Amino acid sequence: MADLKAETRELLEGLQGWSGRPLTFMEVCGTHTMSAARFGLRSLLPANLRLISGPGCPVCVTPVDYIDHALALAKVPGLTLCTFGDLVRVPGSAAKGQDKAPPSLQGAKASGADVRVVYSPTDALNLARESPKSEVVFLSVGFETTTPTIAATVLRARSEGLENFSILVANKTIPEPMRTLATAPELGLDGYLCPGHVSIVLGPEVFEPIARELKVPCAIAGFELVEILRGIQALVRQVEAGESRVDNCYPYAVKAGGNPRARAMVDEVFEPADSRWRGLGMLPNSGLKVREELARFDAALRFEVEVLPAVEPKGCRCGEVLRGLIDPLECGLFGTRCTPDAPRGACMVSSEGSCAARYHYSEGDWR
Ligand code: SF4
Repeated sequence: MADLKAETRELLEGLQGWSGRPLTFMEVCGTHTMSAARFGLRSLLPANLRLISGPGCPVCVTPVDYIDHALALAKVPGLTLCTFGDLVRVPGSAAKGQDKAPPSLQGAKASGADVRVVYSPTDALNLARESPKSEVVFLSVGFETTTPTIAATVLRARSEGLENFSILVANKTIPEPMRTLATAPELGLDGYLCPGHVSIVLGPEVFEPIARELKVPCAIAGFELVEILRGIQALVRQVEAGESRVDNCYPYAVKAGGNPRARAMVDEVFEPADSRWRGLGMLPNSGLKVREELARFDAALRFEVEVLPAVEPKGCRCGEVLRGLIDPLECGLFGTRCTPDAPRGACMVSSEGSCAARYHYSEGDWR
């Protein structure tokens, strides 16, 4: 068995000896965000090698207007709203001019709405089967890794002829925001640490245009410290050689062509659509919508509810955090008026959010 400890030490020593120009790499995966924080990676790297977090946490990038839409659905009589746990605590629009905590699905539940936390879309489907007189809506949020399971659930609902199940879609695809940020002058990115899980579904080829056309080096990495370091080392080597390509540093999980079966299932249910991202605004072809022939499963079409223009939480700088422009510590609310117990923004709610990661794992530099 390879001596991973020795390899980790060697990689760290190599990177700590980097004496070239300052480099900034971005990771775009919530699991990388948490791993980097857990391992204290940023404090292990030299000052001239920066690893910043981008829009890789699906709950964090889901915009306020989606939460508002879900809150409006929660008021529909006879409707059961099913969601993954993190989403229930994400604040919706604050009342204009007021400084009190914004509403959330958790608050709606406390006030009597039928909001259920589920572990998978299948749980929501089971509920729809068991309660044929209720309307069951699943909050469909996530990237390429989560979407195939949701697609499979919709296909199952269709094959069973279920009439009371639908989804409110905010599913997103990661390549477009990566393209957008790749050339953002304010970031000056030198490379992407590409998301391992997404790459398993899409295949490494999906990042080729970013490397070849936009000239931003890419390296796909796993989630252990040694795997992340391999990815960073690959990026440094590309920069040193003046090259930009996609290095697959996670070859035992990520294969050429990805998972075509999962993608086919997604294609059967969804089609590409413009999508609004927290912090990035509306990005063309960066999300999904339910295909017309399956429109009866689209909760946005099935239920007419009023959703007012969104109001971002006052003082919250999640947008800048998600674009990699600021460190969470630069937000004036961090750790005081925004904590995991009382979050003001989505990045403090999700277990994969940059602010939550910084709160849980930072080494006493703010406490
Ligand atoms: S610390 Fe809280 S309020 Fe500030 S950016 Fe993060 S989530 Fe938003």
